[in-house]
Amino acid sequence: MKSRKVPLRKCVACQEMMPKKQLIRIVKTPDDEVLIDLSGKKSGRGAYLCGKVSCFKLAQKNKSLDRALKHHVKPEIYEQLADDFVAAEDEFLVMKENSNDE
Ligand SMILES: [Zn+2]
Repeated sequence: MKSRKVPLRKCVACQEMMPKKQLIRIVKTPDDEVLIDLSGKKSGRGAYLCGKVSCFKLAQKNKSLDRALKHHVKPEIYEQLADDFVAAEDEFLVMKENSNDE
């Protein structure tokens, strides 16, 4: 059925509740790596961000990911994620467009 509830998650930067599909998942893997998980299926503790660079920047500034992942995310990791985020954003937007016609 079309009307079933979409799972909502909160963006750790702007605190907005959004359908899970519209958020980018950041995961801390069991090996303590912090990376972007576009598939949403990696194991580990996850944090969600709107697919917007502005939200990533906010999270970087406020260290929201540290809190959400209960893990100290090093500045260079944030830098790395920022680069990946820009790349992921494009891919993410394409994915969203493709999933519009379901
Ligand atoms: Zn946000």
